[in-house]
Amino acid sequence: MNLHLARIMCTIVLVLTSYQSVHAGANNFTAKQIRSGDNLISILRQQGFSAREREKVLGSDLGLRRLFLTLDTRYLVRRDKNEVELKVFDSQTSEAFRILKKNGAIQAGSYNPKFKTTYLRIDGKVHGSILGSILPKINSNWVATRFMDAYAFDIRSPKNLRRGAPFWFTVEKKYEDGLFVKYGEILQTSLEINGEEVHKKFVRSKGGGVFFNDQDLQDKRAFYSPVNYIKIASTFQPNRLHPITRRRVPHLGVDFELPIGDSVLAARKGVVVRYGNNHAAGNYIVLRHSNSIETSYNHLYKIDRRIREGLVVNTGDKIAEVGCTGYCTRAHLHFAIKIKGRMVDPLKYIKSYPQNMHQMLASQVAKN
Ligand SMILES: [Zn+2]
Repeated sequence: MNLHLARIMCTIVLVLTSYQSVHAGANNFTAKQIRSGDNLISILRQQGFSAREREKVLGSDLGLRRLFLTLDTRYLVRRDKNEVELKVFDSQTSEAFRILKKNGAIQAGSYNPKFKTTYLRIDGKVHGSILGSILPKINSNWVATRFMDAYAFDIRSPKNLRRGAPFWFTVEKKYEDGLFVKYGEILQTSLEINGEEVHKKFVRSKGGGVFFNDQDLQDKRAFYSPVNYIKIASTFQPNRLHPITRRRVPHLGVDFELPIGDSVLAARKGVVVRYGNNHAAGNYIVLRHSNSIETSYNHLYKIDRRIREGLVVNTGDKIAEVGCTGYCTRAHLHFAIKIKGRMVDPLKYIKSYPQNMHQMLASQVAKN
């Protein structure tokens, strides 16, 4: 099949899936998926909310206003005579929101869904990129990028992946009111790297979780992860080009995507050498470690109150909270490592887990 034909087929499949995405479930809900160009306002408009009612919905909950819709986002709708109810599920976090219009009155806010979970296994072979090999099997950017997160510390070059390298993974499918509303975490993975099968499992912890295998415990990297949950939004790219201007806009750190308020941890024992606020980094902290190595933490929401110049912090100490201050469009931690004045790729220097990994493993064992 030539490429052009393949593209047309792809488009047809996409159109079909987007029209098939309406299913009736329990309690008279139907499930819908976000289409390209949708936002919360346009969805509310489609459901008959007036401009004033839409304002009221967005005004009643800060989380709803911050909700980031992706093509993975699904929502449920129920309509009765004088009622419209929507349930919207954040595809990237565990947050869920309920919006109710009853006899013209609006109620909106977050709620705790009681998801029913099933598990799906996907098998495949890598052709081209990992992303491009997973997406045709499961049409979810979230799932494909989580699989890449599992191996972010293992694959240092595309050369590590042989053409046709086999992979598989199991992923959670979450249901509410009998309807599929989102994928959860990938729980187990396998990928052939340099001719060897590398397995990972997702180890959950309070407020986090990381992909892990026993070999990772032998890891000699000197720093720990500065966050409890590793989801990589952007990697270290010293030669990154702007897609339009083609000018070099290097990205000299790694971006960990996390909700506002999540803990930022000292990657290693060190001394606070600078902290404060500037227009690009937002609220930031710089720590100095042995061998004149510095780590920096940007876009922070809150800096811990005890932080001051000269303070010694221990590995794994909470020093701040994740935010979106400075140049930032979505909450994340920009984390960088400088060795003797040179910025380096942090993923080559930090372990794939935070310092409390042993506690995380112990609690996992206790649960089983
Ligand atoms: Zn960054």
